[in-house]
Amino acid sequence: MKTCKWERCNKTFYEVKPWQEFCCTRHQQDWHLHQRRLARQDRRYRQQCTLNDNHIGEVREAITSLIEQGRAKMEQAKAQAEQAKAKMDQCRLSEEQQREIARRMGLQTTNEVRTEKKMIRRF
Ligand SMILES: [Zn+2]
Repeated sequence: MKTCKWERCNKTFYEVKPWQEFCCTRHQQDWHLHQRRLARQDRRYRQQCTLNDNHIGEVREAITSLIEQGRAKMEQAKAQAEQAKAKMDQCRLSEEQQREIARRMGLQTTNEVRTEKKMIRRF
């Protein structure tokens, strides 16, 4: 007596030949088809895993590149801000220079206008 190898059958049977593992040819075929299906699923799963790994790799590369780009842009912006500040420092006139320019143009500096307003208020 033997038990049929096809797990969905599992019946005991009298084997005709000593190497017989299935109760009938139908169950032998079913078992082989099932094995093939399992192998196919396994192969597909492995392919999917490889695709996922590749995808994760691509996403990681994209993120790294974005971070690098962002860093480069920040460095650039910082350099531009420093340049702008340097230019502004160059352009900044001393109070004396401002007064001189205002005098030449017949204008008053803000400070002089303020003093004048205060004087007007007093009268
Ligand atoms: Zn069977």
